[in-house]
Order: sequence, then C-alpha cells, then structure tokens
Amino acid sequence: MSLDLRERVRDVPDFPTEGIIFKDLMPLIADREYFADTIRQLADWARPREPDLVLGAEARGFIFGGALAYELGAGFIPARKPGKLPRETVEATYALEYGTDSLQVHRDAVAAGARVVVLDDVLATGGTARATVELVEKLGGIVVGVLFVIELTFLEGRERLAGYDFHSLIQY
Ligand code: AMP
Repeated sequence: MSLDLRERVRDVPDFPTEGIIFKDLMPLIADREYFADTIRQLADWARPREPDLVLGAEARGFIFGGALAYELGAGFIPARKPGKLPRETVEATYALEYGTDSLQVHRDAVAAGARVVVLDDVLATGGTARATVELVEKLGGIVVGVLFVIELTFLEGRERLAGYDFHSLIQY
C-alpha cells in the first residue's frame, strides 16, 4: 500500500514572492519511509518505459532524479543553471511561474536514440519540463516519460506536455 504523500508536503505562502504558495517537499525527503515510497512510486511508473537515463533539473530534480535513476538501474543527467557545467553545453530558456530561467545540459549527455525519463519535483506552468524535453530531443534522445511528484493542475502545465507520456504522483 502506498503512503499518502500529501502528509509530508508543506504549503509555504508568499514564497519566493507574494501570491505563490510554495510546495515544500523537504519534510517528505527527510522522512525515510515517505522518501522511499515516493521513489518506489516514481520507479513503478518509469520502469516499464525502460529508460536508459533519468534527467533531473537543478536543484530538487537532482534529489529525486538520482534516487530514481539508481532504483531503475539507469544513468542520471543533471540539467543545470548556466555556468555550472564544465564542458560544452546546449541551453534552453523558459518562463517560470515566477520569473525566467535557463537550463543547460552537456552536449554529449544523451546518446542518439537513448530513452530518457524527464523528472522534476513540481509541475507548475510546465515551462521547465518543456525546456528539458526540448534539450533531450535536440541531442537526439527519445523522451519516454515526463514525471513529477506534484502537479499544480490549476496552472495547466500538462497542456505544454501534450503528446508526451506524462504522470504525477499527487495533484493540487
Ligand atoms: P514551471 O516551469 O512553471 O513548471 O515550474 C517548475 C519549477 O519551479 C519546478 O522545478 C519547481 O520546483 C518550481 N516551482 C514552481 N512553482 C512552485 C511551487 N508553487 N512550489 C514549489 N516549487 C515550485
């Protein structure tokens, strides 16, 4: 039986800016039973898609992505803020629920035809996920799934991922 992951998600009003209700997953990550159950649920969905790689965006995508990749026996690729990766990169810029941002991955991170699951902690407007999906495809990878712990359904980020195999563990 799965745990109710909502019990370890905290709402933080007006963070990082006024009007945003930030979904804080740190209590979930800090709880060994809830963290393990989260990774198990993510892996149950991802495993049949037979990914070679999991791609996670800085920074919370690293926490879930590294654990998920290990659980699946897949490799992990970090998508990082500009200037952090040491070798040649490709970049995507996108609008956030609050502000804009860019992400980079190493140009040689995805072998042509590699099967990739894109993962993030929260799906808000879908800008981040859309940008990461485009980076994978630019490098010749196949996006076999797009996966989130939390989906903020009222922001309709799902629409920006139309056509992709998509899943979220909890919805608000
Ligand atoms: P978006 O590109 O709008 O889908 O935003 C997704 C990224 O911003 C994710 O990496 C989230 O970690 C973060 N994010 C956006 N809105 C929230 C929120 N309300 N609570 C927590 N994280 C958020």
